[in-house]
Amino acid sequence: MSDDQHIPAPLRLFNSLIRTIEPFAPIEDHHARVYSCGPTVYNYAHIGNLRAYVFTDTLRRTLLWKGLAVTHIINITDVGHLTSDADAGDDKMEAAARASAKSIWDIAAHYTQAFKQNIADLNILSPSEWTVATDYVPQMIAFAEKIAPTHCYELDSGLYFDSSSVPDYGALAGGRDDAAHARIDPVAGKRNPSDFAIWRKSPPGEQRQMEWDSPWGKGAPGWHLECSVMSQTRLGQPFDIHTGGIDHREIHHPNEIAQNQAFHVCCGDPGVAAAGFTGARWWMHNNFLVDRQGKMSKSKGGFTTLFSLIDAGVHPIAYRLLCLGAHYRSELEFSADNLAAALTRLKRLIMGVEGLKARAEGVTWQSPRLDYLRANLHPKLTPLLEQFDAAITDDLMTPRALPLLEEAIGIKKVPVDEKLCLIAAFDQALGLNLLTLSRADLRLQPKDAQIAPEAIEAELERRTVARAEKDFALSDEIRDALIARGVEVMDGDPLRWDWRLTLG
Ligand code: AMP
Ligand code: ZN
Repeated sequence: MSDDQHIPAPLRLFNSLIRTIEPFAPIEDHHARVYSCGPTVYNYAHIGNLRAYVFTDTLRRTLLWKGLAVTHIINITDVGHLTSDADAGDDKMEAAARASAKSIWDIAAHYTQAFKQNIADLNILSPSEWTVATDYVPQMIAFAEKIAPTHCYELDSGLYFDSSSVPDYGALAGGRDDAAHARIDPVAGKRNPSDFAIWRKSPPGEQRQMEWDSPWGKGAPGWHLECSVMSQTRLGQPFDIHTGGIDHREIHHPNEIAQNQAFHVCCGDPGVAAAGFTGARWWMHNNFLVDRQGKMSKSKGGFTTLFSLIDAGVHPIAYRLLCLGAHYRSELEFSADNLAAALTRLKRLIMGVEGLKARAEGVTWQSPRLDYLRANLHPKLTPLLEQFDAAITDDLMTPRALPLLEEAIGIKKVPVDEKLCLIAAFDQALGLNLLTLSRADLRLQPKDAQIAPEAIEAELERRTVARAEKDFALSDEIRDALIARGVEVMDGDPLRWDWRLTLG
């Protein structure tokens, strides 16, 4: 085959700014800079929130797959996000602190820690840096001071951004929608319904747990300001890619863009054209995880967390696999059946890889560089590598990439070490941890299980002996006793899973 038949596919990504897939090239050679809107840490993340970070991780791993260095920032919003995404309502953090009688700082620390645990459990690469909003308040005030004279006005409640002061306000959302903004609790005195708070003054006579002095009085920054300032401070603007959930395409990101434009016009790099300046070249958004029972609202409570899935005995990587089974721009329905199917799919993958590892004992199969793989791979595997490359570079088409991984595991008459090399390379992009997870790791102990795995194994061993001795009465007795304790015995399971816990 000639070399030009192996040209790696160029990376193409959907840019919400133009609602089109376009070829991606980083602003700096060989280096992509990415900012992801992080969680508001007033409560646990629900599994919908976590889909947003599985998506950013897939993006980051794909950039790495294409040989780019990546600087990735995820922020922690510990101040400023109101109960409405517009400017109405209470600060989510202040409200949570009042409801729990804990200090706001303790609440932020607790839920930040929990979020980082979720990230680790999902095998999401840690960002290059976590930026915490409250660490950047002086920079936020400095940013606001720069744009205030030409783009803001002051009301009793705070400093507001005049959305009519920048061209094309709301273009990312598909155009300015003042009617929609007007439907959300209006703030007295705003010039335009879509104007938003840059600085929220503490109400007279009221002390907030988090407040800072500013030229506009004691108060706290607006949520949108945080991301403009943290992304600008840590990555410089313009940077390459800004990510968030699809809800952010409507208000939060248009407001960030308006601030970025204002700042750029006031004091940006004159070498960078002001026309069309948005702060980031690509704005990318994941679609929602939805749940027919409406359990995906952090503010309403009663939602599903990754911790609750783990407590029910579901390995977190099964949730990651569920996410990868859908394209990030498609809505994904969450259900117990979908999750169970993802867990079964993960079991099959891990059993397949375990089988290969057993055959490859003593052989090194560390994932080599892609260019090495391309040049040296067994001819039966090369097309799989090329197809995989084409899938993930086609706007992160993971649903097309996963069957190629399954094909690589099952393909016959190929040296096992080469297969493992290819699988390891695929897994660098997919992050399923296939080479380290074992079948035993997948068998999590549900929190309310009445019997430990070791005890189950011991009972099953006793049952095997009874069956070998043709003592079927004892064998049935052991099985029935296990069933009574919530353990289903799975004779003849095609995945060779001998038992599973029946939940709930
Ligand atoms: P929050 O903690 O509310 O600021 O949200 C963290 C991230 O989760 C944001 O990028 C949201 O856009 C995203 N998000 C919120 N709900 C969902 C959902 N149901 N599915 C996917 N992403 C979501
Ligand atoms: Zn943000």
